[in-house]
Amino acid sequence: MLKESYYNIYDRNGSVDRLYNSISKASAECINEGTILSNLDKMKSDEVDLLKENGFLVDDDFREQGMIRYLFLKNLYSDKILNVVLVPGLECNFDCPYCFEKNLKKRYKRNIETYFSTLRKYAEQYFGEYELIEISLFGGEPLLFYEECSAFLSWVEKKWKEKEICTSIVTNGALLTEKVALDLIKHNCRSIQITIDGDKEKHNQTRCFKNGSRSYDLLMENINCCLKLIPDSTRFNLRINLNNIAVKRVKTTLDDIDINFRNKVSVLFRPIYNTSCFKQINENNFAELESFYKIANDMGFKIVQNSYLYQACESCSGTNFYYIMPDLSIWKCINDLSYDKACIGQIDNNGIIKFNLTNFLDWLDNADCTADVKCRKCKLMPDCYGGCTLYRSKNGKRSCKEFAMCSVPYMYEGDQNP
Ligand code: SF4
Ligand code: SF4
Ligand code: SF4
Repeated sequence: MLKESYYNIYDRNGSVDRLYNSISKASAECINEGTILSNLDKMKSDEVDLLKENGFLVDDDFREQGMIRYLFLKNLYSDKILNVVLVPGLECNFDCPYCFEKNLKKRYKRNIETYFSTLRKYAEQYFGEYELIEISLFGGEPLLFYEECSAFLSWVEKKWKEKEICTSIVTNGALLTEKVALDLIKHNCRSIQITIDGDKEKHNQTRCFKNGSRSYDLLMENINCCLKLIPDSTRFNLRINLNNIAVKRVKTTLDDIDINFRNKVSVLFRPIYNTSCFKQINENNFAELESFYKIANDMGFKIVQNSYLYQACESCSGTNFYYIMPDLSIWKCINDLSYDKACIGQIDNNGIIKFNLTNFLDWLDNADCTADVKCRKCKLMPDCYGGCTLYRSKNGKRSCKEFAMCSVPYMYEGDQNP
């Protein structure tokens, strides 16, 4: 006997009626009214087989929710992979008005020499335990400290030759020269992310250098140069911030990316949100994201999908992911550095992590959406996995993701599609 997957979602709000399955990520146009089950007796056997293959129909005794719960929890407590995000300093060569880090530089005074020498002691203590180690670079602007970061990566690669070591970077792109791009590739760079604010005009108003000079043309030059160099194994994420901007203006930004390399680029659209230091009325919202996905897809770009299997975001994890701040404190998420409960410990002078167990265990509780009745019943669970843990931790409730944000990207050519 067959039943409909619990995770079938009928989307009848757009120009065409669609069916989507949040476990298999398969989607199809609905040509009949009603559900699959109500049409089952009219279907040929090969049509039924296709629906089974794509997860829309499952065996009657298959416990899908139990399976999702198992996979989520297995991943939450996984200890084979370590992803550490190095934040050697919060300094940046840009002066974006919405930057949440700019008022924190005094608190996180940098001492690059101590940072990297302690990091070596820390790596000697812990890296041996993992099969794969990803060392991500973040800031501030991480390329301001690239020499030190690159030296650390070389040291790690030499010391743990038998392990798979890779890197990734989130940069504003201004210092991403050909030389730096080649060096990142040498360090087995898995992903590079650069942000553009809307179009050239918007970008030059908000993402300017500290001296007020504009950055758009330089970034486009660096992006196109980098795309020429990176292998297919390196993901290039272009984040486009939406800040009161129409699709046709964003198209001009996408037009500036070399047509020959667009298939290497995954685009992520996000409305700029208000922070403690930046307030505005933003007409762009999640509901209209699909019009942006469509134009990018039509122009040959991929759409960023959740790059983490069985988790909401990188922070939705145990001790296998954390940021290492300039003062060597370790954090699960640094989107609000005034929220100390996201800090789960401190690396001491000998490179040993002193965990703050209360904060760490509270974070895990907040990340575990399988303990939440609403999430357990939610058809978006295999795409959303409980959403932002930081929000849950601060507000005691979940911030539900919208279908357009967490599921619709899977209906387009993306970076996770087989
Ligand atoms: S580029 Fe990033 S770190 Fe630098 S000022 Fe802008 S938002 Fe802040
Ligand atoms: S702000 Fe929320 S969604 Fe973003 S990284 Fe932090 S925990 Fe994850
Ligand atoms: S946070 Fe909301 S949208 Fe996400 S899985 Fe839970 S109930 Fe569903």
